[in-house]
Amino acid sequence: MVQLRNVHLSFGDNAVLKSIDLEVRRGQAVSIIGPSGSGKSTILRCITGLLRPQAGEISVGGTRVDALRTEAELIALRKRVGFVFQQYNLFPHLTVLQNLVIAPTRVIGRSHAAAERDARVLLEKVRLAHKADAYPGELSGGQQQRVAIARALAMQPELILFDEVTSALDPETVGEVLTVIRELVREGLTCVLVTHEMRFAEEISDQVHFTEAGRIVEHGPVSQIFGQPRSERTRQFLQRAP
Ligand code: ATP
Ligand code: MG
Repeated sequence: MVQLRNVHLSFGDNAVLKSIDLEVRRGQAVSIIGPSGSGKSTILRCITGLLRPQAGEISVGGTRVDALRTEAELIALRKRVGFVFQQYNLFPHLTVLQNLVIAPTRVIGRSHAAAERDARVLLEKVRLAHKADAYPGELSGGQQQRVAIARALAMQPELILFDEVTSALDPETVGEVLTVIRELVREGLTCVLVTHEMRFAEEISDQVHFTEAGRIVEHGPVSQIFGQPRSERTRQFLQRAP
């Protein structure tokens, strides 16, 4: 589904990604963990075509992302790849339901009735059916983030990238967002998850990548990374993690 091969990316003379290899198969949940500034978000932005690496290959569902040239091609890719960030960026002047309906109707040509039907199903899934007519400003951070996840799902993406989606939330609402992601993963959602929630990464991931200073220091199944890491750096990082 996703493949990065020997990806190099620099901002000016700051080499931020150095030979990144990463693979995500259909139905897998792959986590990226590692210290701040190690390149985690940059990897996700490369996968969506928001950033173009100087070298290497990136493919998403058979499309060579690094070879896309036109804005139309990039827009087509972004319809297929959902992205949920720390800031949920909901439209404040639209209700929860309208937030979910707008992109499918405008971008992928779904009829309003069908988009609304989908939206109500998704709101059930994220346990917010009762908030369909509320405005984002009337919701808690955790509720807004669950709307943002439902909004990404409404586009029926092939995969979703989650970038520290719980980092801005107060501890009490972190759990409700993680519960939603956990269920989606169990249902077979293909996703890449950047997170500082180590226990959560351990619980849901098929594969974990540990990044440091623009390199993937170690990757492997949960049992290896959290049980018997091969790299001393991975071991140190996990010992210090809360
Ligand atoms: P965090 O855990 O803090 O989110 P991260 O692992 O996601 O960190 P990135 O955001 O990928 O780290 O950043 C990796 C490096 O790239 C950092 O040194 C950062 O300063 C640099 N960087 C990121 N975006 C840009 C940009 N648009 N212009 C210049 N440098 C950038
Ligand atoms: Mg980041």
